[in-house]
Amino acid sequence: MVQEEEAHAAENERTFIAIKPDRIAEIISRFERKGFKLVAIKIMVPSKEFAQKHYHDLKDRPFFNGLCGFLSSGPVIAMGFIKYGRKLIGATDPQRSEPGTIRGDLAVVVGRNIIHGSDGPETAKDEINLWFKPQELVNYRSNAEKWIYGVN
Ligand code: GDP
Ligand code: MG
Repeated sequence: MVQEEEAHAAENERTFIAIKPDRIAEIISRFERKGFKLVAIKIMVPSKEFAQKHYHDLKDRPFFNGLCGFLSSGPVIAMGFIKYGRKLIGATDPQRSEPGTIRGDLAVVVGRNIIHGSDGPETAKDEINLWFKPQELVNYRSNAEKWIYGVN
């Protein structure tokens, strides 16, 4: 792909991120530094039912109930970013996450691995639709984009 096509492909790839309040600035800054564009953000306390919808693909796992209980136990900062990527987040188990990743640097146990990131561009779309109304997503061109993606 030529550089410009890659840039446009990247624009269509989104990541849904959810974090607990403790390290908001640090975590957002890692995505910002990498050039991910923030297109939606809000703070909310999800209900247990909402958490079950969010994690529906894990409903048969033994930790499902605890996981949904944790997500709904207090405020969550929900964010939508363009573009998609999981490398910054690190492996599910923080003990196996590389240093330099968010989980590798900031988390210790798997049930409290500090950040949720969508599993792929398709699930990102579904999760952004679950957490945000269409009018809560903003569309803009940031000044840094032409330097990061090569788009004018
Ligand atoms: P992720 O995409 O890396 O977040 O991992 P998954 O989608 O597989 O799992 C969602 C979340 O469930 C993880 O981030 C963990 O918080 C939790 N989880 C996954 N596996 C385990 C496990 O074996 N034990 C417990 N207690 N929690 C887990
Ligand atoms: Mg996942």
